Amino acid sequence: MPLTVSSRSAVRVRVPAKINLHLGVGPLREDNFHDVATVFHAVSLVDELTLEAGPPGITLVLEQPDDRVPADSTNLAVRAVRKLADHVNLEPAVTIRLRKGIPVAGGMAGGSADAAAALIAGDALWNLALPPETIHRLAAELGSDVPFALYGGDALGTGRGEQLTPLTHPYRRHWVLAVAGEGLSTPAVYAETDRLGGTRASDPDPVIKALGDPNPDALAGALCNDLQDAALSLRPELHDVLEAGKTAGALHGIVSGSGPTCAFLAPDPERAEHIANRLRIAGLPGVSAVRVAHGSVEGATLWP
Ligand code: ATP
Repeated sequence: MPLTVSSRSAVRVRVPAKINLHLGVGPLREDNFHDVATVFHAVSLVDELTLEAGPPGITLVLEQPDDRVPADSTNLAVRAVRKLADHVNLEPAVTIRLRKGIPVAGGMAGGSADAAAALIAGDALWNLALPPETIHRLAAELGSDVPFALYGGDALGTGRGEQLTPLTHPYRRHWVLAVAGEGLSTPAVYAETDRLGGTRASDPDPVIKALGDPNPDALAGALCNDLQDAALSLRPELHDVLEAGKTAGALHGIVSGSGPTCAFLAPDPERAEHIANRLRIAGLPGVSAVRVAHGSVEGATLWP
């Protein structure tokens, strides 16, 4: 089928990072995945993906070249456009432009976010209007964290994290993120968790309950990450980062997902700025940037 390009010659999508307010990891399954029970929370660090008509094939342009981000067909944004084109039997002729604001290999699902953005962008550029269930299924085939990036907000994720139940509440939370220069591989962190025998399958209910409480202390007391011990084992200096955040006034700090980004909950935006400044001045080993963000925010969204 020939490529049908929409009246727009380019579409732009913004997509947020996630942190896991709760990450309960169950035992290793026969298919080598772990069952998880996780509470996703979309935060205001975003990637921006533009998809435009281009030469035959899929061309990727990284706006800020970075050794850690693949510039070839293994990039998750390229894989997502390819998957979508195959699904509707189109020969793509597009250029993807990617501007990354989400830390790379930081446990904030930046690659997954780009895959979600690419599905939304391709659907719009090609006028496909695919049903949401189809986009969700394609997203889940690309990776466990990809479906959440489509919706954002807060959601309970079960299975591999791709089965989502939205969690609605009116409260904005304020975060400080200590980003490491060197990433951690998610499979390596899961393997270390298995080695440590640490699959506790922690219960997400306390975090779900705390999300409905306006007092951020309740959420601080409930934050939980079953991968944290493994991330700390592989990257012991994260102990000091977590300690420094609390000393600077955070209500609590956790490793985000598989790490090594550490996420600190602040009582309000002013104190988030204050904590971030103190962490910047501390010049912690391994920390390459300190960012302030809030959540939750909406998922992958077409941008005018
Ligand atoms: P996870 O989703 O497993 O939590 P993460 O947030 O730790 O991942 P990502 O930023 O998604 O980390 O990157 C993990 C790896 O994925 C990178 O090291 C890189 O090799 C690869 N990757 C593929 N596509 C992308 C992309 N669009 N942006 C960033 N990394 C990508």
